[in-house]
Amino acid sequence: MQADSESSVRAEPRDAKRLLAVPIESVRVVGERRARLLRRLELRTAGDLLFNFPRDYQDLSDERTIAELEEGELISVRGTVAEVATSGSGFGKSRVAILLADETGQLRATWFNQPFMAKRFSEGQHLLLTAKPKQRGMMWEMSHPQVTWLAAEELADEPRKLLPVYSLTEGLSQYHMRRMVEAVVEEFADVPEEVFPQSLLSKYQLSPLTQALHDIHHPEDQEALDSARRRFVFQELFVLQLAVSIRRGQQRELSAPELLASAKIDARIRRLLPFELTASQDAAIREVAADMALDRPMNRLLQGDVGSGKTIVALYALLVAVAHGCQAALMAPTEILARQHAKTLASLLEASRVRFAVLTGGMPKRERDDLLQKITAGELDVVLGTHAIIQEDVRFKNLGLVVVDEQHKFGVRQRAALRQEEHSPHYLVMTATPIPRTLTMTLFGDLDVSTLRELPAGRQPVNTYLIEADRQATWWQFVRDRLREGRQAYVVAPLVDESENIAAPSVAQAFEQLTNGELEAFRTGLLHGRMSSAEKQQTMADFHAGKIQVLVSTTVIEVGVDVSNATVMTVSGAERFGLAQLHQLRGRVGRGKHPGFCGVLIGETSDRGRERIEAFSNSTDGFALAELDFEMRGPGDLFGTQQHGLPPLRIADLQRDRELLEEARREAQLLVAADPGLKHENHARLRSQMLIRYGKALDLGDVG
Ligand code: ADP
Ligand code: MG
Repeated sequence: MQADSESSVRAEPRDAKRLLAVPIESVRVVGERRARLLRRLELRTAGDLLFNFPRDYQDLSDERTIAELEEGELISVRGTVAEVATSGSGFGKSRVAILLADETGQLRATWFNQPFMAKRFSEGQHLLLTAKPKQRGMMWEMSHPQVTWLAAEELADEPRKLLPVYSLTEGLSQYHMRRMVEAVVEEFADVPEEVFPQSLLSKYQLSPLTQALHDIHHPEDQEALDSARRRFVFQELFVLQLAVSIRRGQQRELSAPELLASAKIDARIRRLLPFELTASQDAAIREVAADMALDRPMNRLLQGDVGSGKTIVALYALLVAVAHGCQAALMAPTEILARQHAKTLASLLEASRVRFAVLTGGMPKRERDDLLQKITAGELDVVLGTHAIIQEDVRFKNLGLVVVDEQHKFGVRQRAALRQEEHSPHYLVMTATPIPRTLTMTLFGDLDVSTLRELPAGRQPVNTYLIEADRQATWWQFVRDRLREGRQAYVVAPLVDESENIAAPSVAQAFEQLTNGELEAFRTGLLHGRMSSAEKQQTMADFHAGKIQVLVSTTVIEVGVDVSNATVMTVSGAERFGLAQLHQLRGRVGRGKHPGFCGVLIGETSDRGRERIEAFSNSTDGFALAELDFEMRGPGDLFGTQQHGLPPLRIADLQRDRELLEEARREAQLLVAADPGLKHENHARLRSQMLIRYGKALDLGDVG
């Protein structure tokens, strides 16, 4: 570390660093008062202000004099306020009108029913107004134009094409913000040194840093802006991908127990499996086994559509670990799912001596302490549970494997928490929410991937129906018919607080209505996340046993729940769910020999909302749906904003910038392969950027 910090100091010349660290109040035109406001925006130094990119741009590319105005075009006009008039104040209609003059004529701008606008204008002010003008008699008029207040000297400025728009705080005007940034750009834009080696700049035709800084704040035209933006997006994604690649490299250096699935072990485990594996399952098992046989930790993502049979792959891996006398842990996002996995394990292991237990958050302390003690003493072979498994006080004796089911529900950071001192466990994560490739690369770029491509033989796709309000009675009739045939059903409704003023059925309401209405004749149960652990367990057990015919639930059953006699899924308020989520829910049915049915009931929704639901009922391909959801709603819905645990991207947009992400990733991998610790002085600035941004989140330590 000693040598490292020296070399990075050498490569990051002191004067650049020092100059950019100049406190904001010492920057020309800022001053004490505004510095205070800027600090509220987390802008403390000249460098902060320089890299505080506009959040948007005002397009003023068509600026003309009043004499040159034309109807029907969006045009900007610069001038001086000659008169401010208000009429009809008080009740009823009011009108604020100003006259704006330039050297070629006058223009009237009007605002109806916004009496407060009058206070914003005074004679002699300089303004830039943007709107589509209309000619009324001899007079040009703009109705409700966009207003930019200008300083006197700006009146004579070169026409500005794209005006930057910055995030503000109360008391700070856009005008002053622009002036301060302008001053900083003028004085400091050539201070920060290029982070990219010249070779990369030319290969990807990236604007050099100083140029890009000028252009991102004050673009000459759209082209200059695009090119500046492209450079910063590439930089952001590249730094992220460096971090991901380096983490991957670091994990390769960790040691792990060699858990070879010898022919004997393999045969013994396969004998336990209750069915013929699909080709994909077999391939995935081979990949997992090959990884576990090595002395460095497996780091594998197993993805496969709902119902493709991921659990069995996980169980195979758990049993390999146990065969070697290691402990194994299986983490699931809900207690319901953890218990279900325990049940599956129990049924496979009827005749064996494997010791396992379920550890959850809601457990009584005595019971929990007892379990922890057994885990530490090595008296348990397999521990299944929720994130309770990764609490500080859980100490395994010799953990050889960790399986995380439904990875998308956990954060990347939680992985680090399961690390052990001596050797690291092998690591298998599973997801049934197919992760669009862009996101796998971005957030899980340090994982190898196995994919289950087909469903077990004989499985039929779930028949999906979009049910409008006027066809609901028919749908419920259909549900009753299936129930009378002996099948079971789910009804999922959003969990809505009474306080939340939305016209969607809450799960409690839905339960009320159904048990007194459409499903009156059947045994129904209610399940939601706020019930106690014991209540949930009882309800699930009753549903498994068929004592409950209809389970009315929130999305707590979204992941993993596997009751093969349940064949009908009804989702009410479907427009409130993401497509990937709907697909998960649909995956609860059609898991056995009986065909599955899914009815999505929609209420009032926008056209776009409707379009999504239609796409859903027309496709059974989870991967395609996840991509579509990602396109229509962005990544936020797949990965609840903070769930992945990485700092948010500032300028890149994973959706819009997919191609750059690919390039950045390829290039980052090459760079890391050539210089794994980023020790070369040409890479020092990239290295320090990466550490500042991702060092902690990705647990990169000191790198190298
Ligand atoms: P998921 O990938 O959604 O986690 P599961 O592992 O829960 O899927 O498997 C779904 C259902 O399919 C389970 O009931 C499981 O027992 C069954 N199953 C898994 N693999 C096979 C197979 N090869 N043949 C028949 N049934 C299978
Ligand atoms: Mg599963």
